[in-house]
Amino acid sequence: MKFEPVIGLEVHAQLLTDSKLFCGCSTKFGSEPNTQVDPICLGMPGVLPVLNRKAVEYAIKMALAVECEVNRKSVFARKNYFYPDLPKGYQISQYTEPIAERGCLEIEVDGVKKTIGITRIHMEEDAGKLLHGEGPEDAGFSFVDLNRTGVPLIEIVSEPDIRSADEAQAYLKALRDILIYLGICNGNMEEGSFRCDANVSVRPVGAEKFGTRAELKNMNSFKFVKEAIDYEIQRQIDLIESGGKVVQETRLFDSAKGITASMRSKEEAHDYRYLPDPDLLPLMVSDELVSEVRSTLPELPRAKRERFVTEYAIPAYDAGVLTASRDLAGYYEQVVSETGEPKLSSNWIMGELLRLLNEEGRDVKDCPIPPSGVADIIKMVKGGQISGKMAKEVFEEMYRTKKAAADIVKAKGLTQISDEGELAKIVEEIVNANPDNVAKFKAGKTNVIGFFVGEIMKATKGKANPGVINKLLKEKLEA
Ligand code: ADP
Ligand code: MG
Repeated sequence: MKFEPVIGLEVHAQLLTDSKLFCGCSTKFGSEPNTQVDPICLGMPGVLPVLNRKAVEYAIKMALAVECEVNRKSVFARKNYFYPDLPKGYQISQYTEPIAERGCLEIEVDGVKKTIGITRIHMEEDAGKLLHGEGPEDAGFSFVDLNRTGVPLIEIVSEPDIRSADEAQAYLKALRDILIYLGICNGNMEEGSFRCDANVSVRPVGAEKFGTRAELKNMNSFKFVKEAIDYEIQRQIDLIESGGKVVQETRLFDSAKGITASMRSKEEAHDYRYLPDPDLLPLMVSDELVSEVRSTLPELPRAKRERFVTEYAIPAYDAGVLTASRDLAGYYEQVVSETGEPKLSSNWIMGELLRLLNEEGRDVKDCPIPPSGVADIIKMVKGGQISGKMAKEVFEEMYRTKKAAADIVKAKGLTQISDEGELAKIVEEIVNANPDNVAKFKAGKTNVIGFFVGEIMKATKGKANPGVINKLLKEKLEA
């Protein structure tokens, strides 16, 4: 029997607000434990939560970017469970009435496009963090850091439309790109600002009914998401084929071993005793707010990619690389506007610039060469002032020293010799000094021209413009 995987993803994205979802505490990452807490996020009796407007705007922004309908009324609910990093004993989330529903996201795997449904987006607060002691003094102890408690999240739940680990990865990447483009989440998987749970089941090919799903957690990189899902698919198939049954449960991915292992049996929604939070009024979103947020939407990654291909006539591959971030895309467009050379600009940015930036793990935002610097180099090569080889040298020096291209070229005496009069003299000398090779040329061995070019380059220390000397040589030899 052949099996088909069915996958639905739940993604938690931490919103980039300065303060928490229901109180004014800072959301800054990495501070001393328990320094960003107050009675509200600590869940003291008698406190009242106040909803963060920015978080609502960000949630709406994401909803619009993935074509969801924004509910004009949504309701915050208490999701009850006990956990040491959840001091209130419940998490404020949204349940039957989330902020947005029924969206979709287009993905592409191996050139095949597919649309994945988005069931819902809801807002909720994050829990704190447990730190388990490992040192000689604190082994056996666990510590709780409540700085993250109450930080705003959106949870984006997909339809079970995904059919492979590759599709899951493509979906996650597309979602993360959008969040980053919108500037509402930093997408950092290692720090947990972008986390994913994968629901995985398998069914016989052709079957209509879904199989029982396992929920996978603890995958903090794209690579681990793929590994965990692939492992889980095979585990379920092997289990069914050997007569076993998949049970609904939560499984943790162990990245060291590359396997998933059972963590706990999966609770059902009714176990949480969801109930509307009496401390919070229903959230009413006006049409004005929705259109206001809509007007702040930037061009999204897919639209930008497609526009780059049509507007600049560059390959889809280039467009993909150049639109990886809004900053890089903006940088590229700046260079093109100054040079009028879309493909050359793309080559320089994808080749030299990204190579230098990646070497240091530096972001284009902190690039020592401004777009006008890249444009200068391209213009100098085009104008024949420097050769392509010199240009790379100059470019690297611009990157290291932040000096202007023209200054470096001048200081190094790198200027290419393109002057025909000047070069004609040198050509003449070299030709006259090598009568045997001239004879060979005349006898039809035209490849001796390479010898002459080499000699001229030697004589000019590589500064002669190859185009010009080729032309002059031909004229001279054929004369
Ligand atoms: P829960 O809180 O139980 O995890 P959610 O509604 O938040 O429930 O998420 C359920 C996720 O599981 C959705 O992404 C949905 O598409 C996916 N899902 C539901 N049934 C299956 C199934 N049989 N196989 C794989 N994924 C499924
Ligand atoms: Mg779940």
